[in-house]
Amino acid sequence: MLRSSVTILLLALAACRTLPPERPQNLLLVTIDGLRWQEFFGGAQAELIDAEIGGVQDPAATSNRYLRETAMERRNLLLPFLWTQLAPAGVVFGEDAAAPARMSNALNFSYPGYAEMLCGIADPRVRANDRKPNPNPTVFAYMNQQPDFAGRVGVVASWDVLPWIHDSAEQGVFAQAGWTPMLGGEEDASVRQHNERMAGLPHIWPTACFDALTLDAALLYLEREQPRLLHVAFDETDEWGHERRYDLYLDAARRTDAFIERLWQKIQSMPAYRDRTSIIVTTDHGRGELGQWTEHGALVKGCDRIWIAAMGPGVFPRGTRGEAVTGAQIAATIAELLAADFQQVQTRAAPALPLGPGL
Ligand SMILES: [Zn+2]
Repeated sequence: MLRSSVTILLLALAACRTLPPERPQNLLLVTIDGLRWQEFFGGAQAELIDAEIGGVQDPAATSNRYLRETAMERRNLLLPFLWTQLAPAGVVFGEDAAAPARMSNALNFSYPGYAEMLCGIADPRVRANDRKPNPNPTVFAYMNQQPDFAGRVGVVASWDVLPWIHDSAEQGVFAQAGWTPMLGGEEDASVRQHNERMAGLPHIWPTACFDALTLDAALLYLEREQPRLLHVAFDETDEWGHERRYDLYLDAARRTDAFIERLWQKIQSMPAYRDRTSIIVTTDHGRGELGQWTEHGALVKGCDRIWIAAMGPGVFPRGTRGEAVTGAQIAATIAELLAADFQQVQTRAAPALPLGPGL
């Protein structure tokens, strides 16, 4: 009797050791600006691979690269990390049109979208992409006020308006965005190299740098400062969408997936982060359909629909989920995963996403 009890106890202890902690110590939020749910769930869309609607330069080559028979094959090809590694180990919201993931701000462009996910509410006062401080507290600013997180919260973004949405200067949140060289750490050869590379590239979009630079800056920041809460905001999908270049939009989505894999590999290679870090990946808005795929906004039909994926400690691995959710739920989700309560500062914040095992 005694021996079997000891055995059971030992087995239970061994099982506890192998289980991941229930909550993450750190959290990575990654956004892919304006990546439509159609490509996220269905991969490349055949009807947009043409010269006229899609602006595709070589439709045969693009079809060859991204078109496959089934939606599952196409999405695995376009976003292999998200669909073959993250989704099976985590959750994905938004596939079911009857219970979609959507933005609730009704404007469906970037500032209101990011503000909604960071502040937990859709505030009608937020209605422009201007470089103006966010009027509401963000979950990043709130976490930066917690003693264990102070000075270890940051955003690295391709689009240079993100620091304003985070109100980073006022809130003491680290921000690196757009074509601004990395400040501080110039004694580090990697930082100098990054800044030289940035200066040597064409500034095609004055307000947004290439996502490869954002990846490099995020990796440098992770290594040097070891933030506990980090937002990495990629942007090229939105830019190529507006340029009506479906071929380059698909290429950007494919590259971004590889960048997220690089970030995840980096995290899993660092003892402070390995198996203690959760990741949420989402977008700030959808885009229109067919001829309107390049656009998004209040008057473009269907572009409130988004997608949200998550993986890591605190996220039960359930694959695609059927609950209807909104982008506003991300703020409370981040706080709850990090053992904080965002409703202390924003009583109207939408509740956290259902990340448990469910019914
Ligand atoms: Zn846009």
